[in-house]
Amino acid sequence: MPNSYRIRLVVAFVLVLMLVQLATAVFVLDAAHRQQMLQQQRTLDVGINVFREVLANRSLQLNNSLSVLSADFGFKRAIATGESDTILSVLENHGSRIGADAAILLSPDGKLISSSIADLDKADIDALSELTDSMNDGGAARILSFDNASYQFVMQPVKAPTLIAWVGMGFVMDRQVAQQAKAITGVEVSFINKDSNGQFAIQSTFDSTSQSALLSQLNRLPELSREAAEGFPAHYLSYALELDDKSADQWVVLHLSNLKWEQNYEHLRNSMLSIFAGTLALSLLVAAWLSGSLTRPVHTLVEFARLIGQGQNPPPIKGAPAELAVLADTLTVMRDNIEARERDLIYQSTHDSLTGLANRFAAKRTLQDAGDSLSGTLVLLDLKHFRHINDMIGFANADSLLVMFARRLETITPAPDFLARLDGDAFLLLYNNGITETVLSDAIDQLEAPFSIQDSNISIKIRAGMLSLTEHGGKVGVLLRRIEIALMQACLSDTRIVAYRSGEDEKYQRELTIINQLERGLEQGQFHLVFQPKVDIQNNRCSGAEALIRWDHPELGPIRPDEFILLAEHTGNIDLISQWVLRQAMDQLVLWQDEGLVGLKLAVNLSAHDLVNESLPGQIAEMLETRGLAPDLLAIEVTEGAVMRDPMTAVSVLQKFRDLGLSIAIDDFGTGHSSLAYLKMLPVNEVKIDRSFIKDMLTNTHDAMIVETSIALTHSLGFSVTAEGVEERQTIDVLRQQGCDLVQGYVYSRPLAARDFYHWYVEFNQQGGVSPQT
Ligand code: C2E
Ligand code: CA
Ligand code: CA
Repeated sequence: MPNSYRIRLVVAFVLVLMLVQLATAVFVLDAAHRQQMLQQQRTLDVGINVFREVLANRSLQLNNSLSVLSADFGFKRAIATGESDTILSVLENHGSRIGADAAILLSPDGKLISSSIADLDKADIDALSELTDSMNDGGAARILSFDNASYQFVMQPVKAPTLIAWVGMGFVMDRQVAQQAKAITGVEVSFINKDSNGQFAIQSTFDSTSQSALLSQLNRLPELSREAAEGFPAHYLSYALELDDKSADQWVVLHLSNLKWEQNYEHLRNSMLSIFAGTLALSLLVAAWLSGSLTRPVHTLVEFARLIGQGQNPPPIKGAPAELAVLADTLTVMRDNIEARERDLIYQSTHDSLTGLANRFAAKRTLQDAGDSLSGTLVLLDLKHFRHINDMIGFANADSLLVMFARRLETITPAPDFLARLDGDAFLLLYNNGITETVLSDAIDQLEAPFSIQDSNISIKIRAGMLSLTEHGGKVGVLLRRIEIALMQACLSDTRIVAYRSGEDEKYQRELTIINQLERGLEQGQFHLVFQPKVDIQNNRCSGAEALIRWDHPELGPIRPDEFILLAEHTGNIDLISQWVLRQAMDQLVLWQDEGLVGLKLAVNLSAHDLVNESLPGQIAEMLETRGLAPDLLAIEVTEGAVMRDPMTAVSVLQKFRDLGLSIAIDDFGTGHSSLAYLKMLPVNEVKIDRSFIKDMLTNTHDAMIVETSIALTHSLGFSVTAEGVEERQTIDVLRQQGCDLVQGYVYSRPLAARDFYHWYVEFNQQGGVSPQT
């Protein structure tokens, strides 16, 4: 982990340490250097002072010696007589006695009389005579340059008693003198002089290499005269002193060796470096250890968090600092919460919230996961007419019924290996080892035992679809569709158990689609009503209409009502349609009333189920009331068959309709096996003779006779008669003669959309019974 907390700590620690050490080293070395410079400077100062002292001594010596000489009688006489040999020898003798290197005699007007130095040129002599001017007061020595060397020179007058000459003596500043000075001062000494030709010469205690090094940087001399400096030559601290302030470029340079100090300095630096390196190494170790011990709890926490992140359950962290312990606890709590939520979510996504059984999603997954190893029998159970039960006992009770049913499912024998509630009242059971129809029927017997809800017994009927997985394996979607087909067949044929047979998929696919999409289609407005006129043939007036439902399915196109009504009846969805049609028809009545279509009677078709729904009359009354509609505008059409399913209840419901003031018609009269005797007991006011008798009555005398008899008998019971499905004009005439009241059929009009019906109706009645072209 190149970027880890631990490495950052170590780097920070070491960086700080290095910075501190570097600062210390710079400070110490600089201080040492300055201290050393100061000391050297002092040593040099001493040397300089000593050197000046030496020069002063020699000057004194020269003066004394010259005083003796200039007072010497023999010398004076030799000068006076001009004995040049004598003069020279006296000068030499005297000079050598004090160790002078040069002896000179000048005439009072500055002419050279005698000299121990050969080759004195005019400039030299001028310099000497110039010296005499300053020497008048018996003064100090001067440094003069002759013959590439500096001389410390003193001159004194020789008087007898008047001035007869000037005598001068000088010490040369040569290497020897330098050596002597070195011996006294302890520093190297160099004399540097520039002669009248501008040539520099050097006399030094240094060897020739160092000397030439000095000669190469003579331009530094003025600088060195101001302050001692290094590098003249290398490893020396040097100070230059101008020997004579009148004659330029006569220098003495004192050189103090730096070598020892440099060695000391280097030693100090090296020691510091090794200390530096040592502490660095040590600090690295310490930092690594320290950061390790500092970051270990963090690492533990990181590991702890990582394990939690993986959904594991790491043991609690021991001995961690308080902050980290809090963090670890928080993480644990967080993990627990997340886990609990996850468990909840998984549970909710795989379980039915009402019964706690596995849901459709879980069922699909279970089947999917089993894959090819899936075998045995799949069973899909459906509570027959559960919607109706729902209406009867209310939602809350129906829910408890479902829960009780689910609990009972868990206790039946044989126990299913997997159990799920797919939706509503559909339950899926899986028997891994298969189950026979007989055994399943026994299990269903157990399930159909009455349930006790709020002290009353509720009986249920069960329809079951069966699918042998060994015979009809396949993808989950296919399996579920097939078992639904089997169940649908059970519902349609009103059989307890239907086993799926291969090759029925396509045949039943359409039915399945219709059944499954009916409710959504109603919600999404795929349905509408059409209206077929009913004409009073005795007066040639249209007095009413029948509302007929239409479904325009987005994929299947127009679906005939016979088809989906039948499926809806068998699967218990018909009440949805009836409710929708009733509302829709009443809304239409209100619209027509607003348009001036007053007194039109509208009939709607109800089915057997509606006739056992005892709350329906109340609901219809409420619907009429909220719309402010008179009850006699609404007619109900029911078939004989529907009434005969449960005649007792049907009659009581019909009676309630009558009490409300609704008209009631027996639809499709003649197709059922009931007789007119039954009609007598029914609270109806209209009978509609089925199209099957009407359509051939012109040619078939038998049919014509049945129609005539039916009309007569119906009239005798006090009901009005409607002939259905009349397609030919002559039929109307025959029917009129037979006393038939109303005719409904293509002869007048096919069922029309609301708007078209309105126009048809207005025109038909205005033209006194002539059908407008539609
Ligand atoms: P139904 O109640 O006997 O309705 C009369 C049927 O006969 C209608 O068929 C109508 O279009 C058709 N028809 C009328 N005159 C003639 C004609 O001259 N010749 C021929 N060939 N047919 C004629 P539709 O609309 O297809 O309805 C069929 C059945 O579907 C209806 O028979 C009824 O039982 C059912 N149905 C229609 N609408 C509803 C509804 O809203 N609720 C319920 N429960 N059933 C409905
Ligand atoms: Ca009808
Ligand atoms: Ca009919």
